[in-house]
Amino acid sequence: MPTEESRKSFINWFKKHHPREYYFFSAIESNIKKIHSSNHFGLHEGEYAPISLNIKKLEGNKYHLAADPVAALFLGTICKTIIDENSNNTEAIISDRIQQEFENRLSMKCNDCDAMNMTNAKYCNQCGKNLEIN
Ligand SMILES: [Zn+2]
Repeated sequence: MPTEESRKSFINWFKKHHPREYYFFSAIESNIKKIHSSNHFGLHEGEYAPISLNIKKLEGNKYHLAADPVAALFLGTICKTIIDENSNNTEAIISDRIQQEFENRLSMKCNDCDAMNMTNAKYCNQCGKNLEIN
């Protein structure tokens, strides 16, 4: 198991070099904190609970995902975090896309008045100058 010092050093590296992944890691960690705060598993301070996953082949070409309770909670928490993040960010993503699309279309600058015009505009929306001559 990592020491507190090696954990901190890893977290700093993670944050610096992979900020998006670190963000998701901390979101997952925060949701794990919520689910474990019920103290159902009775973990003591400093105690580790290993996450163990196995796949068992059953009769008739069927498979069974054998997860210990901590692993099952971990998998559920990852999925919940992804869904939460997705719904929390949907509005921001949509408005960013609209903004970007708008900026992409407003890409012709009038040489006379500096107004931004739609990409395919023939005349400046501000001063009426013929943009095709510019
Ligand atoms: Zn103009």
